[in-house]
Amino acid sequence: MLEVKNLSAGYGRVQVLWDVDLAVGEREIVALVGPNGAGKTTLLRAVSGIVRTRTGSLEFRGRSLRCRSIEQIVDLGIAHVPEGRRLFSGLTVRANLNLGGWRTKDTDLERVLELFPPLGQRLEQVAGSMSGGEQQMCAIARGLMSQPELMMIDELSLGLAPLIVDEILERLPDIAASGTSILLVEQDVDAALSVAERAYVLETGRVALAGKRVQENYLGIA
Ligand code: ATP
Repeated sequence: MLEVKNLSAGYGRVQVLWDVDLAVGEREIVALVGPNGAGKTTLLRAVSGIVRTRTGSLEFRGRSLRCRSIEQIVDLGIAHVPEGRRLFSGLTVRANLNLGGWRTKDTDLERVLELFPPLGQRLEQVAGSMSGGEQQMCAIARGLMSQPELMMIDELSLGLAPLIVDEILERLPDIAASGTSILLVEQDVDAALSVAERAYVLETGRVALAGKRVQENYLGIA
């Protein structure tokens, strides 16, 4: 579904990603882990068109993502749940969710609320007044409103208690099974490998290791 090959990207004169290869298949959950500054966020930004790529290829269902606008990439079926959630904190939960689906004709609020029931009781609440866990649910739900075929989630666990992280992670297999593949960026490797079938380790902008999860919390080399 998503195929990244020999990708190089960066900011201005600073190159951050070097010859990165990565793939995400249908209904798959793939983790991208690595230390601070490794380039995980930059890779997601390259896929969603926020960061321009230098060399290499980025394909989604056989169509190149290079030189497309962010809006066109959303229309192709890719959603990006950014690090730090970036909700419109002064708007209601309902308004945040509607904004996630504004380019899509057939949004399915009911399905999204089934996945995250706590949001159902908070639709008219201002998003910034919710707990961190509820805000993360809202950010993921907003991403799902465009009915994406691929959703990229950056640092799902950031600032959240482990129990809340587990509660949100438990929803991901259902999301993947219903047709939205997930590329999950995490610094918490255990959390990521509790749901991902495959993982990539990024170190200083290069893929240092890629493999299938062969046992719980153990990353085997492909
Ligand atoms: P973190 O978990 O800390 O977010 P990361 O693996 O997601 O780490 P990136 O955020 O992609 O890493 O950052 C990779 C490198 O790119 C870092 O050296 C960072 O300082 C640099 N960088 C990130 N954003 C910018 C920017 N807008 N302009 C210049 N350099 C940037």
